[in-house]
Amino acid sequence: TNDQLSKYERIEAFVKGFKLSSTAYKQVMTLLHQEMNNGLKTQSHKMADIKMFPTFVRSLPDGSEKGEFLALDLGGTNFRVLLVTLQGHDIDIQSKTYLIPQRIMLGTGEQLFDHIADCIGKFVSEHNLLSHTLPLGFTFSFPCQQEGLAKARLSQWTKGFRCEGVVGEDICRLLQEALLRRTNCKVEIVAVVNDAVGTLMAAAHVDHNCEIGLILGTGCNVCYMEYLDNVGTWGNEDEKDLHPRQVIINTEWGAFGDNGCLDFTRTEYDRELDTFSINPGKQVMEKMISGMYMGEIVRLVLERLTREGLLFQSADKDCPLFERGRFYTKYVSEVESDTDEFFRHTKLVLEELQVVNYTTEDCKIVKYVCTLVSARAAFLAAAGLATLINRLNKKDMTIAVDGSLYRFHPRFHNLMCLKIKELVKPGLKFKLCLSHDGSGKGAALTAAVSLRLR
Ligand code: ADP
Repeated sequence: TNDQLSKYERIEAFVKGFKLSSTAYKQVMTLLHQEMNNGLKTQSHKMADIKMFPTFVRSLPDGSEKGEFLALDLGGTNFRVLLVTLQGHDIDIQSKTYLIPQRIMLGTGEQLFDHIADCIGKFVSEHNLLSHTLPLGFTFSFPCQQEGLAKARLSQWTKGFRCEGVVGEDICRLLQEALLRRTNCKVEIVAVVNDAVGTLMAAAHVDHNCEIGLILGTGCNVCYMEYLDNVGTWGNEDEKDLHPRQVIINTEWGAFGDNGCLDFTRTEYDRELDTFSINPGKQVMEKMISGMYMGEIVRLVLERLTREGLLFQSADKDCPLFERGRFYTKYVSEVESDTDEFFRHTKLVLEELQVVNYTTEDCKIVKYVCTLVSARAAFLAAAGLATLINRLNKKDMTIAVDGSLYRFHPRFHNLMCLKIKELVKPGLKFKLCLSHDGSGKGAALTAAVSLRLR
């Protein structure tokens, strides 16, 4: 009917900003390529939003790595301590997850590192590891300026952490000092990596075409193997001639767009989400892609459509759907897993949010909104990857991916593959593969590779 037609036209007006043209994605690629070069060059590095940090990781594992390692994984939902035993391609992992309470996430650096040291202490005594000094690989997934494999200065907190007195400090020193305050822990920190590097290292252990690591979890970040000649910020002249002449670059591309260059891809919902975040104006690309934010973008759209009278005619204005942060990104996956007109999962989600008297048409609209928001996220991530694949220009490239968004969203993988295919140079082949437990395994492998090269 005419009424319905005009309703759908009105809805379309509120969501059309999520539908970006091919030209827009190509524009994103051009801008990203330039920003990456800015980040890599000494003259422009300071001004660049994308920091392109050299990691000091110069070699990928070759499968011969051996030994027992401790690994830590900090930087997202969970904090884990792991014992990783490497024996060629056999890897044994024992791990325990510990909670980081919100008061510690927003407390002081000393409290944070004391808490971490306590958890390591408990883990080490529970596993009877007190007799010998263990090498430790630390996956610390926040932007850091590295000055060595085990020296990393935090440049800023992201993803809900904001501990006082840590920005600008070497997080290895802070951890080592906290460990010294506990007398029973004999641990040597040999490498710090972030989760993207860990993911790449873990996958490269079994796949020699793998030179890119991508995270699609709480945050969004990518790393890749770059030629030293392209890395102007590689300060260590003495080491310039050392082989291998390459280093993993931690792009920290989540900050892409912080200078406003991505504004043509953003919607009013992205701006509102940013205003109410703990880091306004920062991590623009990350806020359009990652799991910490995607559900909230969907929620803001649903809220708007409801206010306009286009959705949930009889919803209670006090129901949780209208509270910030209540539409989890896992709901997006659940809603999109509905493939028929029964909307079983969508209904469960709406019931959890205490939306009453919704109609089948409402379910359809909710699913449509989820589809648009997640597709834009997948396509942006794809445009980023295509930029890197073209840049590295290898015939076969494997991209290791980790993170719950990639793992659990029903279509993220396919959407990304479709878009990358459209955007890469003809003749370049690529494969996206899930890397399991990258941060634990990868940190241990990095520690092992570095001990081998010592
Ligand atoms: P990390 O914090 O280390 O990145 P994860 O990879 O588990 O950990 O990512 C957590 C993020 O993934 C959270 O933001 C969460 O909202 C999102 N997430 C969790 N489950 C799902 C799911 N089923 N579908 C999509 N996103 C999810």
